[in-house]
Amino acid sequence: MSTSKKIEELISYSRILYDRKLLHATGGNTSVRDGNDVWISQTGAELGSLTEEQVVRVDLHGTIVEGQAPSKEMGMHLAMYRARPDAGAVIHAHPTHAITLSTLIKEGSSDAIRPYTAAFYVRAGRVPLIPYHGSGADSLHAAVEELAADYHALLLRQHGLIVAGSSMAQTLGMVEEIEQCCQISVASGMKGEWLTEAQCRDIDQALGRTWKT
Ligand SMILES: [Zn+2]
Repeated sequence: MSTSKKIEELISYSRILYDRKLLHATGGNTSVRDGNDVWISQTGAELGSLTEEQVVRVDLHGTIVEGQAPSKEMGMHLAMYRARPDAGAVIHAHPTHAITLSTLIKEGSSDAIRPYTAAFYVRAGRVPLIPYHGSGADSLHAAVEELAADYHALLLRQHGLIVAGSSMAQTLGMVEEIEQCCQISVASGMKGEWLTEAQCRDIDQALGRTWKT
C-alpha cells in the first residue's frame, strides 16, 4: 500500500473510532506502519477530525522523520511495532466499558477479560491488565514493552486499550470485540458464564496459537 493510502486509512479509521465512541475529544491515538517507519497521530489531535497535517512520521525509536510533535503516548505504539514484526497498525482507544471493567478486576491477571463470546476470544484471546500509570508515562510504555511480544491486546487500568493488528480494519475489529465483551462483563456483573478453558483451547488450537503461561 502506498504512503498516501496508509495516511488516508489512518485518518478514516480514526474518524470511525471517534464516531463509534471508542474514544472522545483528544483522547486516544492511532498509527500505521510504513516500511521501517510509523505514521502516528499528532499530540493533542482530535481523532474525529484528524487531517494529513496532523500525522507524524517517526522511526521505530521515536525520532521524527516528518511532521510536528507525535502523540505523547507514542512509546506504547512503538513498543508494539518493535515486538511484533507482523503488526501493521496500532490503536490506543478509551472505550467506556473496557475502562469500567479495568476498575472492577484485580491486578496481575494475564486474562483480565473473561471470554464471554467466541468472537472475542478468536480476535483478542488473552488480554492482560496493566496496572495504573499516568498517561504518556515512561513506566506505562515500559509495561507495554514487557508484554507486547506475548499479547497483541492489553487493557490499561483506569485508562483504556492498546491493540496491535495486521491492518487498521483488523485492529478496529479487535477493539470493537473487546469493548463488546467488556460491556457484557459489566452488564452481567461478571456473573454470566464465559467460555470454558477447553473451548478456548480448541480455538487456540484451530488458530495455531499458544499463550505464555
Ligand atoms: Zn490514553
